[in-house]
Amino acid sequence: MPQPSLKIDGARYVITVDDQRRIIRDGSVLIENGRISRVGRADELAAARADRVIDARHFVVTPGFVNGHMHISYAHPVRGIFPDDLGSPLKQVFALQTAMTEDEEYHTTLLALLELVRNGTVCLLDPGSTKFPDACLQAYEDAGVRVILGECVTDREAPFTLPRYPTAEAVARTAAFIDKWNGRLEGRLRAWAMPFSPETCSAELLQALKRLADERRTSLTLHHGSGPQARREYGDRGAKSPTEHLEKLGVLGPNVLLAHALGLDEAEIACIARTGAAVTMCPVTAAKGARGATALGRMPELLARGVRVALGCDSPNNSNHLDPVRTMNMAAIQYKDARQDIRLVPAETALEMGTRLGAAALGLGDEIGAVETGKRADLVLFDTRRPEWQALWNPLNNLIYNSDGRSVHTVVVDGRVIVDDYRQTFVDESRLFATVQEIGERLQARTGITFPRSRWPIL
Ligand SMILES: [Zn+2]
Repeated sequence: MPQPSLKIDGARYVITVDDQRRIIRDGSVLIENGRISRVGRADELAAARADRVIDARHFVVTPGFVNGHMHISYAHPVRGIFPDDLGSPLKQVFALQTAMTEDEEYHTTLLALLELVRNGTVCLLDPGSTKFPDACLQAYEDAGVRVILGECVTDREAPFTLPRYPTAEAVARTAAFIDKWNGRLEGRLRAWAMPFSPETCSAELLQALKRLADERRTSLTLHHGSGPQARREYGDRGAKSPTEHLEKLGVLGPNVLLAHALGLDEAEIACIARTGAAVTMCPVTAAKGARGATALGRMPELLARGVRVALGCDSPNNSNHLDPVRTMNMAAIQYKDARQDIRLVPAETALEMGTRLGAAALGLGDEIGAVETGKRADLVLFDTRRPEWQALWNPLNNLIYNSDGRSVHTVVVDGRVIVDDYRQTFVDESRLFATVQEIGERLQARTGITFPRSRWPIL
């Protein structure tokens, strides 16, 4: 049965992020069979009929947002428990994640999806932390989003609890995962190879997983970081840096996405550019987690070399919000301040990372990331009837510098409206919030990972 058609009619602005980066005033978008069939001025599309017409005169339309690194499955029930003076909470994070039951992970995932879509996210990559994809499949399907999944594997010792297998088993598990999941949900679900990091995986495992990704025509993502100390350590193992280590192994390439990627030097940026690998950066996580984005981040240099850079939120206990607009905002302002150069990472570039460049980084550049004829119909409609959108002269500056996900009025994925007038229909929100709060109680009691609620007295 053909999908009902949809027309977004007479939008105040359509920020297309297409090849010419057109911003169409009084613009309309026609969607048929899940794809964008026409984009133009409202008068040009006046004769176009659709099963549903959304009067968009108060809205700014953008492509849907892509989140390139998003551990969705553990953090919501314990969001905010780590006091700032704890230092790095990574050990506790992984212990909590390991302790999640199937039912807990399902509800947690559902809440994460709710927050993501309500803020305009249409596509997310979970870097292998979902343990029970069978249980979560229903949540992805109900939410209607695009998901990239994988099974996190390692075969070496790690400083925190990670799934560890003999090398051959890690490869076999990854192959089975890709074969089972890739292409499900009418193609909205993709499955990738997801070794945790170069430090926790042997050279043999990394090479075997890259070969597997190539054979299955899919991709590979892993956590990646560098810096002076990492370069010294890798020097002892015969490479100048972690990035050169990956290149020497043949593990970098256009279907490889490096997450975080802080601390790169010029030679490492050249490795990435030369091999065509992509990067996801998590600007809010880096800032909040004191990872040194301002000192160690090389976003402007990666962009200048033509590297596909996506943005990510990491996790609800890292960034902690899951708002792509706030994330783009941080990307746009972080380097300006750090280097005292206001020209760095302009608002337009931040929006590109959240949309078409991010989609390209995830290998989906032909399908999504722009409001363009032929693309899948993934769109966000921002409501300008709010104080933060006033006055409206340059919608792109308003979006990146003034607004946030709270003005997301409508979200469309594959031509289906998944958020409609600020509401979604796939879950009863207040019941879900209560369930996740209870899961948090249980999880802290079971693991003993708990902290005083506040540094200030709660009476
Ligand atoms: Zn991660």
